[in-house]
Amino acid sequence: MNAEKFKAYNARSIANSPYWPKIPDDVKDALGTVSRVLPFRTNEYVLRELIDWDRVPDDPVFRLTFPHPDMLPPEDHRRLRELLSDPSNDAASANYIDMLRHRMNPHPAGQMTHNVPTLDGRPLPGLQHKYRETVLFFPAAGQTCHAYCTFCFRWPQFIGAEDMKFNARESDELSLYLTRHPEVTDVLVTGGDPMVMNADSLTGYIEPLLKIPHLQNIRIGTKSVSYWPQRFVTDKDADAVMRLFERVVAHGKNLSIMAHYNHPAELRPALAQQAVKRITSTGATVRMQSPIVRHINDSAGSWQELWTTGVRLGAIPYYMFIERDTGPQRYFELPLVEAYEIFKAAYQRVSGLSRTVRGPSMSTLYGKVLVDGVATIANEKVFVLQFLQARDSDWVRKPFFAKFDPEAVWFDDLQPAFGAPAFFFQHKGEPASRKPIYLHRESQSEQPLTLAS
Ligand code: SF4
Repeated sequence: MNAEKFKAYNARSIANSPYWPKIPDDVKDALGTVSRVLPFRTNEYVLRELIDWDRVPDDPVFRLTFPHPDMLPPEDHRRLRELLSDPSNDAASANYIDMLRHRMNPHPAGQMTHNVPTLDGRPLPGLQHKYRETVLFFPAAGQTCHAYCTFCFRWPQFIGAEDMKFNARESDELSLYLTRHPEVTDVLVTGGDPMVMNADSLTGYIEPLLKIPHLQNIRIGTKSVSYWPQRFVTDKDADAVMRLFERVVAHGKNLSIMAHYNHPAELRPALAQQAVKRITSTGATVRMQSPIVRHINDSAGSWQELWTTGVRLGAIPYYMFIERDTGPQRYFELPLVEAYEIFKAAYQRVSGLSRTVRGPSMSTLYGKVLVDGVATIANEKVFVLQFLQARDSDWVRKPFFAKFDPEAVWFDDLQPAFGAPAFFFQHKGEPASRKPIYLHRESQSEQPLTLAS
């Protein structure tokens, strides 16, 4: 098979692609405005194989990768366009863009403040240690992706803002930290996308982990299975990547490729299917996960096809997440009850082999909160919730209840049921919201009132 060369497009160079005439005018406009705030990147494979141009603008992968004017509040979009139209406004435009970015809650769930571990009193900004047994590692060379998702919650890492990103230059600190923490059994290598690295760089990060005896599971979070499956099949070092995966397995470690698929269209090309087959042939597993997002995968049929196809190829359905409270959340959000109904309908239609999937789940400051159902208890309609993961492992799998709210889209919108003053894991009177107040839906264009710690 001939190796296709990776060809990326940014907000400027996309005008040179053969698909430019097919892009609607409002999206072209958003490429000049919204993309100044939220980064845009796509590649030739995504344009050619994953987008059905006859369905644009409603094609799900088009929505997944191209900006839309509504991703900014109308007044912000109007003001930004006005500033950008006059080159003498460069400094004011830059300030305005910076302000808009900081208003978008760039570090949800306390990523920069609550999860960064220390080594000999020194913070390790390229690591996160939120759950006892799992450490997240952000290698410096893996802080980009083959294309960018418009809802991405890691977007600050792509814009070069030093105060909004985290990464690690060396894997030495990771190894030392792990050696001193025998309770850690899992490392998730994440980004961006670690699979943008060449095989040598990836090996440099992974090999040292093989020497840590208590480490059982190495996970690699990646979207390349969808956006650039060539990475596992035809890239010039694809075979070297496969050998690395085999070495991990031969060392007695479990290697899990945490594959980010948003829509079944991503698994339809033969090359995408071949990538899954090649990965699993090394002894590694492929687990499928994605947020549920408006305009892209807000139908039970999408999830049913995704999980069913994945299982047929040997992948394991793992998580349906609720879109995080960051970036253009308003554009993508859907009520928790709707997400739950979609999950339930899809789950009911698939075989037991697909029912390894869990969701819908919110990655909150406290842990992963599963929306497990809607019930009426003691005459009160409630959401039934539980932690799948938590800062305190005693909280896991302990049911708790929130007042039913048909409009709630995130954990912060929920109130404890049955008149309780706080959820069992909160201090009495602790505010549910950790977001700046301006992010609340009624007041999105206001200035910040407070910034919770
Ligand atoms: S693949 Fe993941 S990290 Fe990369 S742009 Fe999409 S959501 Fe963000």
